[in-house]
Amino acid sequence: MTSTVEQELLPLLKTHFGYDAFRPNQLEVMEDILSQKDVMAIMPTGGGKSLCFQLPALAQKGTAVVISPLIALMKDQVDALQANGIAAAYYNSSQAEDVKQEIWQSLRQGELKLFYVAPESLHQFDTVFHDIEISLFAIDEAHCISSWGHDFRPAYTQLGSLKERFPNVPIMALTATADKTTQDDIIAQLRIHKADRHLASFDRPNLFLEVRPAQNRLNQIIDFLAPRPDESGIIYCLSRKSTEKIAERLRDSGYSAKAYHAGLSSDERSTVQEEFITDKIPIIVATIAFGMGIDKSNVRFVIHYNLPKNIEGYYQEIGRSGRDGLPANALLFYSYADVTMLQRFIANTENAEVEYAKLERMQQFAEALSCRRIALLNYFGEPVYENCGNCDICIRPPHYFDGTLLTQKICSAVARLNESEAMGMLVDVLRGAKNAQVIDKGYQNLKTYGAVKEMAWLDLQQYVIQLLNQGILEINFREASRISLTTSAKQVLFEGKEVRLAVLEKEKVTPKKDRTAAAKPSGLFEKLRLLRQEIAKEANVPAYVVFSDASLKDMEAKMPYDEADFIKISGVGQAKLEKYATAFLKEINGHKKKLGTTNVPSHELSLNLFNEGRSVEMIAKQRGMAQTTVYGHFLKMAEKGNAIDIAKFISEQELSDIKKARAELKQDEELRPYFDYFEEKLPYWKIKYGLYLLK
Ligand code: ADP
Ligand code: MG
Repeated sequence: MTSTVEQELLPLLKTHFGYDAFRPNQLEVMEDILSQKDVMAIMPTGGGKSLCFQLPALAQKGTAVVISPLIALMKDQVDALQANGIAAAYYNSSQAEDVKQEIWQSLRQGELKLFYVAPESLHQFDTVFHDIEISLFAIDEAHCISSWGHDFRPAYTQLGSLKERFPNVPIMALTATADKTTQDDIIAQLRIHKADRHLASFDRPNLFLEVRPAQNRLNQIIDFLAPRPDESGIIYCLSRKSTEKIAERLRDSGYSAKAYHAGLSSDERSTVQEEFITDKIPIIVATIAFGMGIDKSNVRFVIHYNLPKNIEGYYQEIGRSGRDGLPANALLFYSYADVTMLQRFIANTENAEVEYAKLERMQQFAEALSCRRIALLNYFGEPVYENCGNCDICIRPPHYFDGTLLTQKICSAVARLNESEAMGMLVDVLRGAKNAQVIDKGYQNLKTYGAVKEMAWLDLQQYVIQLLNQGILEINFREASRISLTTSAKQVLFEGKEVRLAVLEKEKVTPKKDRTAAAKPSGLFEKLRLLRQEIAKEANVPAYVVFSDASLKDMEAKMPYDEADFIKISGVGQAKLEKYATAFLKEINGHKKKLGTTNVPSHELSLNLFNEGRSVEMIAKQRGMAQTTVYGHFLKMAEKGNAIDIAKFISEQELSDIKKARAELKQDEELRPYFDYFEEKLPYWKIKYGLYLLK
């Protein structure tokens, strides 16, 4: 059933944003705010939070005030709104004086539908906000108000008095923070106790989740990139040095990549960011600081070169890919060495106990042997039981073998090492390593020394990790990460308890829906991308402000011919139709023409277009040929036995006239006598059609 609000908002959604349907929870949030209720929207990154306040802003009188923590975020959204022909502006203290004056003026005169402001500058507008009509306050990234959240911003705390000062203006708080404590705190601090909470699913089904062992990471990355030339992505790693090293290696392999880290000057950093946003540099190798304020919708992959320190961070980072809803890859490289390194970092922090626990969950996720999405969503408190079908595990489920004997050997080594050694030594001893540390401690004399000689070091380590995950072995982080036995290990050693282990898979997996295969056929997407880049450069906006990848893909699939087709493309609203239809249609039709002459026989193409519902006139115009030629194509197709009803192009009267002429002329090879017979009034093609039908 469609609500009245939906009926009211859907046309606005299409006209202004070019979309045909709402994403989960958008409508519910808008319904609340339009009935003047405070509301809290919790949606994952890329879930479509901005639209929740942008559309109601358009549906109502007055100006919507949006509070946002980062200038980059405000600027992007305002650019995007303006590209859609919507009156919007942002204000922050670093703007030039004349720009500020202009904004003040348009604000005072109520010309803006949306006004973005940083919390630090908000107090300057106290008076004017009382003088103008405000439709709503939207607090974007609302978790910044909470010291429980991960990005606390002191200036956000001033927002607590908004409700008192403007009791009649509804407040909308938006965040991607799933944790309940932070949510409660946001509501309390904003004093919007009656606010409805709309919690959207955190699932991002378009992200392909994959974890691979970290051996030869760099080569793996190069292999990963090979079928994805020009795709945009972020590679996260822990150290500045590795960002530089990887970026350089990628450049050597012919990719355009740059490093981004805190060691760069702030100018250098904003240049890199700008180049990424505008698709000039498609790949950024960054420490975690990168991506916070970036709304780029066509990020096609996020690679974690190192293990993130918790699942929240991981999910936020991979969430930066595939915001446009198209398939994207989240690839995590997992190494045990990263776990120990992170443990060392944590050891010196204040909140170490919690951090250890979070790291452990992250590790479990990386080592999971069942659907990764189930693990992730359950972590965020979203009960999911069905396998997702879009992660490495679902696509290639692990095989198991009876690992009891191997487990016994490992456990027995742990026992003989007096449960006092860490992973590295345990594996060395089991493999019979002859290095100094082993010999110095006299471990070569242990009974289990060399018990698993034949196995590769990393493989054995993987099995030990499986035992840690199954709760058979335990790591004592606080005691130099020594490995000890649990009661379960004792059952394996002394009571014959059986253990199943997963066979280590060596080959890479590829997602089922291989989009590179789907993207290949026509090459139109590539052309449209270049056109978009040109237009964006000219207008000095990020490429995705012109059109998202999703829109370009839709154009490639539908190949619109004219404006009536173009408006049906997802992401094309009235403003973009007016601005861009001509340029994009020209590109598309040019491409189609080329396709027509190279691949498909010309007469077949004409019939295809006709069957798609185009008139002969349109086909002729589109293909740059005479209508007669198109009719000729139809006849040729009919002669070849294709289903086309030639008779409908010629009236019964005309047909019987031709029949009469035929009886008189007594031949049907030459057409000229017919043409003369009809005093040049019946076109040649109709004569041909008539004769064909009579035969
Ligand atoms: P969030 O703030 O929740 O991270 P955004 O508001 O930036 O997400 O939206 C992410 C992307 O989704 C944007 O490119 C936006 O245009 C697109 N989007 C939002 N709502 C819809 C919709 N109903 N249909 C299609 N695309 C949408
Ligand atoms: Mg947002």
